[in-house]
Amino acid sequence: MKAGSIVIIGSGLIGRSWAMVFASAGYKVKIFDIVQQQVTSAMEDISKQMEELKNSGMLRGSLSPGKQMSLITGCTDLKSALDGAVFIQECIPENLDLKQKIFRQLDALASDNVILSSSTSCLSPVKIFTGLKHVKTCIVSHPVNPPYYVPLVELVPHPETDPATVETTYALMKAVGMSPVKLLKDIDGFVLNRLQYAVISEAWRLVKDGVMSPTDIDIVMSEGLGMRYAFLGPLETAHLNGEGFESYCQRYGEGIKRVLSSVGPVPDLSGEVMEKIHQALSDKVPADPEHLNARRKWRDACLARLATLKKEM
Ligand code: NAD
Repeated sequence: MKAGSIVIIGSGLIGRSWAMVFASAGYKVKIFDIVQQQVTSAMEDISKQMEELKNSGMLRGSLSPGKQMSLITGCTDLKSALDGAVFIQECIPENLDLKQKIFRQLDALASDNVILSSSTSCLSPVKIFTGLKHVKTCIVSHPVNPPYYVPLVELVPHPETDPATVETTYALMKAVGMSPVKLLKDIDGFVLNRLQYAVISEAWRLVKDGVMSPTDIDIVMSEGLGMRYAFLGPLETAHLNGEGFESYCQRYGEGIKRVLSSVGPVPDLSGEVMEKIHQALSDKVPADPEHLNARRKWRDACLARLATLKKEM
């Protein structure tokens, strides 16, 4: 695989992060964007980020920032971007028309065995890929923001995707230090967001019902559940909490069902509760670019340290 290049389509937040992931593992990366200025600023930003990561000891891979940068090139010509491509990771805005258009272009230009992968967060592969002549090599590889720090990638095939495409993508993701998981069938929101939305929705209801402040709810997760979830999923947590999962269900099943039956309806995600949560969060981290970016940097540093710890365990 390392013989060919990885092509990143779209050089925004996610495209840059993917480019850094692949370069850190020694892959040649071509970044394509329709906006020349975006390509230029992506190259500058990636170079700056790599130097900062090196200085803080958080650079991925064994290559120096200079060597990693030398693997990345940028362009605004799609045909030349695809020359020598083995894997294409699309990272353009989350808009179905735009995605369908770019995949039609890629379908026309790509050779038969190139994998066409989309970073979409919630658009179905059926909507994006149906009708393409290369549908067998199409797949969704949904990362978590930012992929450089969070290794999970959800692989979601189209019903006509060749199983070999899933396996090759899985192996590539492993090879670049990501943690791929396979969806056996397409479902709205994929899996990460379905789990995340279930948590957000219960957090909303707890604020709405006056059970706990937004700040304390976040602490329940960051100092409680999240401590375990960085290492064990909810199912294995249950397995260990009982004498195996069966005993967990036997012991705690009635209580779990009672609590779940009191869970309320889907929240409207607007109005007073939204304002209350926004205010509480803004008291802690003001919602302006300066404070949000500083907090994101802190988050990324924590995630990088956690990744190191997880590798040591
Ligand atoms: P972004 O807006 O930061 O970047 C999009 C880039 O695509 C821009 O540089 C833009 O110039 C470029 N672009 C637009 N049309 C193009 C085209 N036809 N060809 C090439 N480049 C084009 O977006 P983002 O946040 O990086 O998101 C990209 C994708 O990743 C989306 O599908 C999004 O849902 C998904 N994703 C985002 C996150 C997140 O938290 N941001 C997480 C996981 C997945």
